[in-house]
Parts: sequence; C-alpha cells; structure tokens
Amino acid sequence: MSIHNPYLQKIYQQVCDRDPNQPEFLNAVMEVLSTLEPVIERHPEYEAAGLMERLVEPERAVQFRVAWQDDQGKTQVNRAFRVQFNSAIGPYKGGLRLHPSVNLSIIKFLAFEQIFKNSLTGLPMGGGKGGSDFDPKGKSDAEIMRFCQSFMTELSRYIGPETDVPAGDIGVGAREIGYLFGQYKRLRNEYSGVLTGKGLTFGGSLVRTQATGYGLLYFVQEMLSVMKNDSVKDKITVISGSGNVAIYAAEKAQELGAKVVTLSDSNGYIYDKNGIQLDIVKQIKEVRRGRIREYVEQVPTAEYHEGSRGIWRVPCEIALPCATQNELLLEDAEKLIANGVKVVAEGANMPCSLDAVAAFQKAGVLYAPGKAANAGGVATSGLEMCQNAMKYSWSAQEVDQKLHDIMVNIFHNTYNAAKEYGKEGNLLAGANIAGFEKIAQAMMAQGVL
Ligand code: NDP
Repeated sequence: MSIHNPYLQKIYQQVCDRDPNQPEFLNAVMEVLSTLEPVIERHPEYEAAGLMERLVEPERAVQFRVAWQDDQGKTQVNRAFRVQFNSAIGPYKGGLRLHPSVNLSIIKFLAFEQIFKNSLTGLPMGGGKGGSDFDPKGKSDAEIMRFCQSFMTELSRYIGPETDVPAGDIGVGAREIGYLFGQYKRLRNEYSGVLTGKGLTFGGSLVRTQATGYGLLYFVQEMLSVMKNDSVKDKITVISGSGNVAIYAAEKAQELGAKVVTLSDSNGYIYDKNGIQLDIVKQIKEVRRGRIREYVEQVPTAEYHEGSRGIWRVPCEIALPCATQNELLLEDAEKLIANGVKVVAEGANMPCSLDAVAAFQKAGVLYAPGKAANAGGVATSGLEMCQNAMKYSWSAQEVDQKLHDIMVNIFHNTYNAAKEYGKEGNLLAGANIAGFEKIAQAMMAQGVL
C-alpha cells in the first residue's frame, strides 16, 4: 500500500515523525490514508480546513497507573490507557483490552479504526479504545475483581454515559464488565449505561455476546450473495481464535450450513475434519477457561497442532481470522491463496498485515476488512445504549434482526462507496471512504476543534 496524493503524503510523514515507535498505529493510518485519495481530491476544502491533520491526532490520550494487590498480598502495578480519538459524531465508544501486549501504539490503532467502524454502523458513536498490560490468564476471580476496581477508580474520571462508553475486547468479557460497572456505580452513586456488554440482569442487551461473530457471518453471507451469487453453505471454513468473536462466528457459520474445521489460541490450533463441536469448545473456554488443546481429549479423532500460525495451512474456502492483530502475514496469505481460499473476512481488528491484504486483493479473493465485517459488536453496543436510555429491553429476535439489518447496510454502503469512487469490489477502500465521509462532514460543520 502506498500514498500518492501530496497532502496525504505530508500527513503520513508528520505521523511518522511524531510517533516513529508506534508501528501498529502507523499501519492503521497508512491503511486508511492510502484509500482516501479520491475523496481528498474531490474535496479540496478538507485540506484548507486542516481536516486530516486533526483526524490523525487523538482528541485526548490518558495513561494511568493501576495498583492492586494479588492473593499473596503483594502489590502489583500495571499501566493503563484510554484514547479518546474522535467525538465528531457521538460520545467516544470502544472496548477495553486486557493483555500483556497492550501499549499506546496498539490502543491508538484500535481507537483510530474504531472511528470509521462506528461511523459505518450508522449509529451516533465516536471512536475510542482503552486497556491495560494486565494479564488475566491464571488470575483468581478475586484478583480480577481487585484489578477491575482499581482500574475503574481512575478510568471513571474520564468516562460517562454522554462522554465515553467503554465495552469489552480481548480479555474483557461479562465478568470484567460486571466488576467495572459495579465500581463505577459505587464511585458515582449513579446507575447509568456507562459500559456496554453488561449482564442481562443489570442493563445488558440480548445478543451482545454473540453480536460480533454473528454480524461477521451476516456480512459474509451478503457479500457472497451480491458479489458471487453464492452463500456460505457447505463451505469449508477456517476460524482462528477461540474467544468471544471466534466462538459465535463459528456458531452462526454452522447455522448457515458451513463446515468449520479449526479454532485456535495463542499456543496452537485444533483441526476437526468432521466439523468443530461447539458445545465442547464452550465448556472448555467459557465454563472452565481452559486451553483449546483440551478439545482433542474429548474428540480423539481431532488433531491439535502447536503454534497458532499453522492454521493458515489448512485448505479452506472461507478464512475468518478472529484472534488478534497481525496474526495472518504475507506467507500465510500466499498459502491460503494457493489452497484456493475464496473469502477472507476479518473478525479481529487488523489481523491481516497490509501486504497480506494486498495479496488477497491481487488474487481476486473477496476480502472484508474488520472495520466493516466486525462492526456488529459495537453496533449492538449502540443498541444496548439505546435500550438503557429508554429503560427498556428488546427481545433477542428484535436485536438480532436489527443487527442483521445493520450488517447488510454496512455491506451495501461499503460496496457502493467503493463503486462511486472507481474502486469497485475493493471493500477496504469502500469501508474507509463510507466511514470517513460522515466524520468529515461532521468535523467540517463543527469548526476547527
Ligand atoms: P477474547 O479475549 O475473547 O479472545 C481472544 C482469542 O484470541 C483467544 O482465543 C486468544 O487466545 C486468541 N489470541 C490472542 N492473541 C493471540 C495470538 N497472538 N495468536 C493466536 N491467538 C491469539 O477476545 P475477542 O474474541 O473479544 O476479540 C478477538 C478479536 O476481535 C480482537 O482483535 C478484538 O479487538 C476483535 N473484536 C472484538 C469485538 C468484541 O465484541 N469482542 C468487536 C470487534 C472486534 P489466548 O487465550 O491464548 O490468549
């Protein structure tokens, strides 16, 4: 990927000069700017208003200490962040990630991507993201609770139902959201929809747990139908990860008739030629919080392979990377293409490296970028905010139908935007352009901020 427009080249250079040590953020900026050239050329007023200079700089980025005591009474200290990137179209919205790899570059890339993703949903949500280098693996419930309470004690200064509404991400599921919500309520003496992904007994939305994975499949189904007059039915499908997104992507794929043959975690992957048995996976991952290798103890005909990248050598027609950023590199893309992959759709955020994406596009593989294909999670978070504001709950069918409609809409807006700007079939360009146009108009209307 490269940038030819002089104004956008200058913007990218400024970001490189300012943040040379933020590779994930630089990648995300390159990916967006390289696709916005036709829009910038059509709208010279954006350069005059310094719009892009403002777009690539977060409105606010806070870093803070989280001190907590482990079960031995020893004090532990973690580093945490909240990046409030852009509030042009609504309060900041985006998940919290708990993983040892978390740093400012990763949170900034995620927050930047979130701006366009949230815009694509059609709901009024700005872009933000946060997290900490705390590792939840192997921690007791009590340690998780103490960490979450300490984290929220600081985070609560910066968020609020009309300001910034965090949600889950890697390492943050229903348990963590519960502890975070409880602490916010205690600190503020206020019962509000300040977080999404809440439990169903205290303001959560039905279908939020399933939303990212289900939404991914609704998007893929529509993409295949419009672009190839085809469907996911009977397609051999490789899914990476075994967390929230991967499990519910697999569930919906199976419901739609696909044959899901893999899942993984950061240690390795399982291959079940008969199709993954999700009830066993849910027991291992959701109930016992175990490792994916335990699957083969219960399904001896399945295989476990050490090393998570080997998953891309499994021949398939549909590949859904649903684990983490940069998990699918150029050589993996080449392997998938050689094995006849037809569709690659990102459940995770930026799982494919930029050269892997270019390889898919060159080979004519249908490629769906995460900011469009995995927007179902944040869209349903937006629906949770609506329900909280109305003090009312929709049924599972109502939420699922709205999620389905939103994903179908995102596909069409993305597809049409690419076509309008002479890039038919390039859904990466389409997603960036469609997401950007709304943000740009709102920023222009609100003046220099
Ligand atoms: P979870 O924490 O539930 O699951 C993450 C999964 O990815 C785990 O199986 C984890 O394995 C695996 N994983 C993490 N790092 C690696 C690695 N380096 N190599 C291989 N596997 C790895 O997170 P989610 O399912 O919620 O999130 C997955 C992705 O989807 C992330 O990119 C997230 O940003 C994105 N996303 C999530 C949304 C949501 O609603 N939850 C919404 C939109 C995007 P292990 O246990 O070994 O760490």
